[in-house]
Amino acid sequence: MTPYAEVIGDPISHSKSPAIHGFWLEALDIDAEYRATHVTPDGLAAYFDARRSDPAWRGCNITIPHKQAALDLIEDRGGVRATIGAINTVFRADDGVLIGTNTDAGGFYAPIAGLDLEGAHAVVIGAGGAARGILFALSKVGIGRVTIQNRNVLKAAALLSSFGIKGDAVPLGTKLPEAKLLVNASALGMGGQPPLDIDLTPLPDDAVVYDIVYSPLETDLLLQADARELDTVDGLDMLIGQAALAFELFFDAAPPRDRDDELRAMLTV
Ligand code: NAP
Repeated sequence: MTPYAEVIGDPISHSKSPAIHGFWLEALDIDAEYRATHVTPDGLAAYFDARRSDPAWRGCNITIPHKQAALDLIEDRGGVRATIGAINTVFRADDGVLIGTNTDAGGFYAPIAGLDLEGAHAVVIGAGGAARGILFALSKVGIGRVTIQNRNVLKAAALLSSFGIKGDAVPLGTKLPEAKLLVNASALGMGGQPPLDIDLTPLPDDAVVYDIVYSPLETDLLLQADARELDTVDGLDMLIGQAALAFELFFDAAPPRDRDDELRAMLTV
């Protein structure tokens, strides 16, 4: 019986998770598999019922549209419901109970862990599920102020207050403040979505621009930041970071992050 983990979603064929986890399993010579499994919203409860009693199953990553619904079916020992409000990973605890957690926040933060953000001003574009994990991470490092730009401004204001972060919610296209960090956590700039129309001129020269969109990887936002010689972080860094935290929970082994360049090259062909 080969141990396995998987990513579930609807649709699921686009997911890069099998390639990432498969690369690490092979690199570490672990006899296990990581699959993509199509699970519809109607089938989510039955999916977890079946996996609970499957001893080979080590856990799963969860993508759209199940990140919130899965919370109702899984134990929430870390209090994710009251903070990020969505899970992206389920694993089996030592006592056999299925636990839900969220590795998106940690995956987002890892590439910028060297930045001193305490008391700093950040701008986040977007107020959806990904932005929730990002605001959670920023609140944990003592960010001073966050400006959220979003199409739906009321939603952005509610998000800020739910994390108790000082700041403001403004419409897309509002002139940027002199922020130390700019994060695009919206779908804008992603393939098939409208472009992100933004003027980076007000950012200081030491600002970091982070685009969590990974398809395409070189977004217009990052190209614009490069042209201003600002430091940048792309969406693959976060994607690999959240996968690394989940991999440890599934397979009890640290992925070989010294081979990230090879992994990134494989994911971008
Ligand atoms: P989501 O919950 O659906 O939120 C989408 C966000 O984009 C909302 O703020 C929404 O604004 C905005 N938006 C969507 N279409 C828009 C449009 N036509 N005009 C203006 N604003 C628009 O999605 P999500 O899960 O947060 O994901 C957002 C992006 O992050 C996606 O590109 C996803 O692939 C990426 N992502 C990357 C990673 C990673 O590991 N790199 C992880 C998670 C997500 P409203 O609130 O006004 O609707």
